[in-house]
Amino acid sequence: MLLISCPNCGSRDETEFHYGGQAHVAYPENPNELNDREWAEFLFYRDNTKGAFAERWLHSTGCRQWFNMLRDTVTYEIQAVYAMGTPRPAAAPPAAESGTASTAPDSTTTGTAGPSIAATSTATGTASPSTTAPEGATK
Ligand SMILES: [Zn+2]
Repeated sequence: MLLISCPNCGSRDETEFHYGGQAHVAYPENPNELNDREWAEFLFYRDNTKGAFAERWLHSTGCRQWFNMLRDTVTYEIQAVYAMGTPRPAAAPPAAESGTASTAPDSTTTGTAGPSIAATSTATGTASPSTTAPEGATK
């Protein structure tokens, strides 16, 4: 069970909220210029991120306001709650992998900005790629 901190109401139980999918999916500027595949990708294709993931949430039984949340899809740790329309905050480094990150400081520096998280997760994910999925599914 998650304890979600609504920006308007404070910390409330997860059951008061509804998940709204991936955040920051911009509507196409000229939808009529898209072909069928591009339109389908806008409608149906979403990231399946392992790690920090920006998602929309609705406080449906509280203030009925939408907000964005940055949540780790592996640990369920809520890293940030922020208003709709504001840019995504920087993701905190994975807490579980901070101990193993000392063995690969060069790999994080070569992957420059945002992709550094993906680089570290793939570097450490090679140790146990199949064992982490069932853990996340059971939680
Ligand atoms: Zn609220």
